[in-house]
Amino acid sequence: MTKLKVEVQKNCSSDTTESSETLKTPEDYRKALSKMKANIVKDKLVRDPCTDKELDKGINVVSVSYEYANDPKMKDFMTAKSPLTGKTVHRYNYIPQSKEDLEKRYEMINTLAKETFCAQRCVGSDALYALFMGTFLVDQDKTLKTDYHPRFLEYLKYVQENDIAPAGAITDAKGDRSIAPSDQPERDSYVHVVEKTEKGVYVSGIKSPITMGPYAEEICVLPGRQFASHEKDFAIAFAVPADAEGITRFVLSPEVKALEGEFSACHGKKYLNKEAMIVFENVFVPWERVFLCGEYQYTGRYADFFATVHRFSYCACKPAVFDLLSGAAALISEYNGTEGKYLFSDSKGKLFEILKNSDMIKGMGQAAIKFAKETESGAVLPDPKYANLGKFISGEQFPKAISILQDMAGNLPVSLPHENLLQDKEYGPKVKKVFARKEGVSPEDHYRLNELIRTIAASDEGGLLQFGTRHGGGTVEVEKATIYTQSLKKLQECKKAARRQAGIE
Ligand code: SF4
Repeated sequence: MTKLKVEVQKNCSSDTTESSETLKTPEDYRKALSKMKANIVKDKLVRDPCTDKELDKGINVVSVSYEYANDPKMKDFMTAKSPLTGKTVHRYNYIPQSKEDLEKRYEMINTLAKETFCAQRCVGSDALYALFMGTFLVDQDKTLKTDYHPRFLEYLKYVQENDIAPAGAITDAKGDRSIAPSDQPERDSYVHVVEKTEKGVYVSGIKSPITMGPYAEEICVLPGRQFASHEKDFAIAFAVPADAEGITRFVLSPEVKALEGEFSACHGKKYLNKEAMIVFENVFVPWERVFLCGEYQYTGRYADFFATVHRFSYCACKPAVFDLLSGAAALISEYNGTEGKYLFSDSKGKLFEILKNSDMIKGMGQAAIKFAKETESGAVLPDPKYANLGKFISGEQFPKAISILQDMAGNLPVSLPHENLLQDKEYGPKVKKVFARKEGVSPEDHYRLNELIRTIAASDEGGLLQFGTRHGGGTVEVEKATIYTQSLKKLQECKKAARRQAGIE
């Protein structure tokens, strides 16, 4: 255990009573958002995100994380005791220090994803997790004389005590991918320092797309890549209130709208994911909230820490999504009477192709926990190879699973009559005939299931889910490179084994 960690733990209160909790309720979260300065733009300025139909459903998603943390049945995995404050805090704001912590973090994300598809809060939480390890690492380099880690701990304490769900802003706009960040014709393609003063720094640039961006109280900004020695201005990590002077948050994907029908799927009707493009224009960040500034050598490490912990989060949420796909595929096959052998195909074989993914990804998540390593900072880091493999499998298999679901569902999900006609005295009996398949399944339930499949596989919202599974948390190429690099040592052993078996000296 590091000296700093010992000091942090000495400061802990031994009070374990209920009053030593710092947990917000969903209502507290909404109130905090309503009080913020208006800087969210959809097609026009949004005064209060809680009163906007679509943003409100994104807020519903984050609210579930607050609700579950207050539920006595889920407290064990939704909360943790902070070594910084000695109080019970939301597990999303707690830095895992043991494999048991990772198990509980896994359970939290998996449980939330079962309800919401995407819990959204992982990105900001993983940014805190990465900053914890990153700031500690930089401070160990005594030639740099930095004190980022104690600064960050103060910030983390603030986040814990106010139970804030920050957004994590990692992906820069990036500009022309063939040109280095410092040579971009548009300097704002990467967030950078514009000016340094005694009190802090001024930053400009664009981060996009940012999960939870339109309904976060705070934004944690990290570098998304390694920068070169002449690119020190881009080597910046910091945290700011999301309504700080100079920030504009643009709500993305205008087509992804709140569904409102009686038979609409839960995701769309109650929950919706909304992302933001965050534009920073000469935003002032006081030094106490700056967690990297110019130490370009460490930018890649910050990005790597984030990538590993976020891909571990994917290992926790994606099994829930694949399980939902499996359930929808099995049910529609039952409703349509296509279970078992049907013409040339076998529904079991198709179902297996979806079903296997959940357990494969879960297995990678468990391996990432088993081989996790304690870092000098005191935080435990999931194994990068297995975390990346879990994310890689989910990205690769998701389009295949969607395609199988489309195959099993037939054309009905995209050929549904208007739902209000189902209850119509004149048209209802005619319209319901299209659902006359398996006896005992009501036309309404048939409609509901087809509408769920449409939402997952053939809607704007489903498109966002599919793109997100592919690109969220980094590209497939980076995942492959990480898996390959992590396997190099093993590859030498593999070659040795092949030589031995072949009889090569
Ligand atoms: Fe968390 Fe998964 Fe959503 Fe990312 S995609 S924020 S890991 S639930």
